[in-house]
Amino acid sequence: APEVLTFGETMLALRGSGPLRLGGSMEVSVAGAESNVAIGLARLGHAVRWAGAVGEDEAGELVLRTLRAEGVDVSGASRDDGGAPTGLMIAEPRLPEVTRVHYHRAGSAGSRLKACSLERAFTAAPPKVLHLTGITPALSRSARSACTLALRLAAEHSALVCLDVNFRSRLWSSEEAAEVLRGWAPSVDVLIASDDELPLCLPAETPADPALRAKELLALGVGEVVVKLGAAGATAYTDDGRTVHAPARAVRAVDTVGAGDAFVAGYLSAFLDGSTAEARLDRAVTTGAFAVASRGDWEGAPTRAELGLLSAPAGTVVR
Ligand code: ATP
Repeated sequence: APEVLTFGETMLALRGSGPLRLGGSMEVSVAGAESNVAIGLARLGHAVRWAGAVGEDEAGELVLRTLRAEGVDVSGASRDDGGAPTGLMIAEPRLPEVTRVHYHRAGSAGSRLKACSLERAFTAAPPKVLHLTGITPALSRSARSACTLALRLAAEHSALVCLDVNFRSRLWSSEEAAEVLRGWAPSVDVLIASDDELPLCLPAETPADPALRAKELLALGVGEVVVKLGAAGATAYTDDGRTVHAPARAVRAVDTVGAGDAFVAGYLSAFLDGSTAEARLDRAVTTGAFAVASRGDWEGAPTRAELGLLSAPAGTVVR
C-alpha cells in the first residue's frame, strides 16, 4: 500500500526562452502541484500513488511516463474517454526575475477527474496519508466531489489528511475557496499554507496575527499548522501548543516555482519517518531550497542521499 495518495491536475509544461509572441523554441516537461509533491516524496524513497486524470493524447502519455520514471505509482490514474485534452501550461520568461505563466486548462481531462476513479484508486490500497491541494476543488464540480469523497474515505480508512491550501485566484474567488476550505479544515491533520492563505480556512472574522490564526485552526481540529514564509523560512504550530520556526536555507534563487510543493514533500517525508517538528521543518526548508536553486518545478528534487549537499561549501566537487 502507498504511504501517500495524491491526485490533481498535471499539465504539459512548456517553457519558452523569451516573449511568447515571438515564437522560438521551448522546453517540454510536465507540471502539477500534487505530482510535484509525489515526485519529491518518491525521490526521498517513499511509496507514492498519483491518481489524476490525463487526456488520451501524447501529452497525457508524457505525464504518465514521467511519473512512472520517477517511481510514482500511476496504476490508479485515469485517461479521459470523452476526448478532453491534457491541460497545458506555458511559462514565458519575460525579465530575468519575472516569468509569466499562461494556462490552457479549462475543460481539460485533469479538471474532469471523476470521483469514481478516485474511489477506485483509494480503496484498491488505502494510504497512510492523503495529500490534497486547494487547486483541485477549484477545477470543476466533479474534481471537487472527488476531493470530498477522498476526505470521507480517509476518515473511513484512518488515513491522515495533508492539505496545501495553494489558493489560485485565477480559478476561483477567495469567497468560493473559503466556502469549501472552511468545511475541510476540521478533517485536516497537516495544514500547510502561506500566511495570507490561512483566513481561507477560518471563519470570516479572523485575527491578523498568524500565531492567533494558527491557534484558531488548531481549536477547529486541525492537527498542525505549517506556515510557509518564502525566503523567511517556515513556522509550524503543533497541537501540543509548540511553535517551531526554521529559517530558509541560503541558496542562489534560480527558479522559485515549485518551492512550495518541494517544501510539502520534505515535510511529509519527515512526517512519515516519525520525525520531530524540528526535523520535519528542517527537511522541508532543505527540499524547498533545492527547488529554488534548480530550474523546473520538480527536476531538482533531492534524493535522500543528496539532502546533505546543501551544506557543502561553495565550489565543492563531489567525486
Ligand atoms: P510556490 O507556490 O511558488 O511553489 P509557495 O508560496 O507555496 O511557493 P514559498 O513560501 O514561496 O511557497 O516557499 C516554500 C519554502 O521554500 C519556504 O518556506 C522556504 O523554506 C523555501 N524557499 C522559498 N523561497 C526561498 C529562497 N529564496 N531561498 C531559500 N529557500 C526558499
